[in-house]
Amino acid sequence: MGYVAAIDVGGTTMKGGFVTRDGTIHAFERRPTPRAEGPARVVAAVSAFVADLARPRDGERPLAVGLAVPGLVTPTHAVFSAAFGWRDVPVSAFAAGVDVPVALGHDVRSAGEAELAYGEGGRDVLYLPIGTGIAGAVVLSGELYGGAGGWAGQIGHIPVRPGGAACGCGQRGCLAAYASGGGMAARCGVDGGMDGGVDGGAGGGAGGAEEVLRRVLDGDARAGRVWGEAVEALALALATYTLVLDPAAVVIGGGVSQAGEHLLGPLREALAGRLAFRRAPQVRASSLGARAGLMGAGLLGWGVVPGAPGRR
Ligand SMILES: [Zn+2]
Repeated sequence: MGYVAAIDVGGTTMKGGFVTRDGTIHAFERRPTPRAEGPARVVAAVSAFVADLARPRDGERPLAVGLAVPGLVTPTHAVFSAAFGWRDVPVSAFAAGVDVPVALGHDVRSAGEAELAYGEGGRDVLYLPIGTGIAGAVVLSGELYGGAGGWAGQIGHIPVRPGGAACGCGQRGCLAAYASGGGMAARCGVDGGMDGGVDGGAGGGAGGAEEVLRRVLDGDARAGRVWGEAVEALALALATYTLVLDPAAVVIGGGVSQAGEHLLGPLREALAGRLAFRRAPQVRASSLGARAGLMGAGLLGWGVVPGAPGRR
């Protein structure tokens, strides 16, 4: 059978495990990302995780390693991450001493690959994980679109309020400042409202959003206002996306998608309300849920296994 080792590095936690060709995850493990200790410590922690997973167990070892990280990523370098503060980290720094092939890729885009390969998919879809931050995987005519410089899909930094709240990316009024788990938590005064930078672990946890939702359901007025503003901000950004690219569906993933219909119901209504002359795309939760990130890292790994069928 065989398996690859997969690691998905988020802003708060790193998820790792073994992934078979059909996307099944085994030996799932979660470790904290030592983000506050600086980029060198994050690289060292990832490298230790990779080394542990690449080690033979019961005479069997992974065929390859797939490593998904946020920010700007090429197959050879983690070029830039505002969340971690690293620049131009070569793939070898994450995989010292590992003698199986190692594939490096972008967290949200590889999660989007997993949605295409194992999820409900679709040819023209926006896959939008909302976690501590927000990013998107843009699927056009069945292919992931990266853009000219690899920056496509930065939905979280679409301006939704001119001159609005400061965002960790350096702009003001970004969607992420209002609708990410971190942004909502910060606006509600809940712990977990971290500054997500450009790439703050969009595929990661809900970043305090669970607590915000709990307060909404308890009837807390401030939390209710923050939640409503988050839905409005998402609807505005998605209306823009819809008018430009005409997706069939928007698939919401990440920790915040666990709010389910508390988020999706009002969001469908608000999006439809912003579109006058055309129908809104379908808005639904990812069927892969929180597994998409690790399954995507697994696909990266399978992409470099000699003799394995190609991705998708
Ligand atoms: Zn921003």
